[in-house]
Amino acid sequence: MNKYMIYLDTKRCIGCHGCEVHCKTNKNLPFGPILCEIDHKPLKSIKGVPKTEFSFRSCYQCDDPYCAEICPVGALTKREDGIVMLDQEKCIGCMACAGACPWGVPQFNPLTGKMVKCDFCVDRVDEGLKPACVTKCTTHALTFVTLTEV
Ligand code: SF4
Ligand code: SF4
Ligand code: SF4
Repeated sequence: MNKYMIYLDTKRCIGCHGCEVHCKTNKNLPFGPILCEIDHKPLKSIKGVPKTEFSFRSCYQCDDPYCAEICPVGALTKREDGIVMLDQEKCIGCMACAGACPWGVPQFNPLTGKMVKCDFCVDRVDEGLKPACVTKCTTHALTFVTLTEV
């Protein structure tokens, strides 16, 4: 059962991509893998003013994750609070999880030869902190909530 989620207030988001940058910094990721992403969807302009709708994409921490089912070494597991973990020690970088995930969420890290995915910055969560992307959003468009608060 998922306990957490990240919610994007689309009225507050300005599409600055700061969340993506801080995610990568926190996870020490090189050029290439992106664990959270802001999508821009152009809308009909109003009185000549262009409008854009933003959405936030990351791991959905699925209840029955296909990524975990296919992993040949059991590197992907779901915690009791719903966070789907990827064990860096066990991962052999075969990329089967990326193919099995309907959204292609797991990403290859060329520095380590292993996969990475969003885990809500689990080290921070375990210390009572919020994920890096949420903390650094300058417009407070991102909120980290427990599902009972939604
Ligand atoms: S940091 Fe905040 S305002 Fe900037 S793109 Fe991310 S969610 Fe939107
Ligand atoms: S990586 Fe894909 S399949 Fe696995 S929990 Fe995340 S969204 Fe679900
Ligand atoms: S890349 Fe790693 S986590 Fe993904 S299926 Fe292969 S061993 Fe498992």
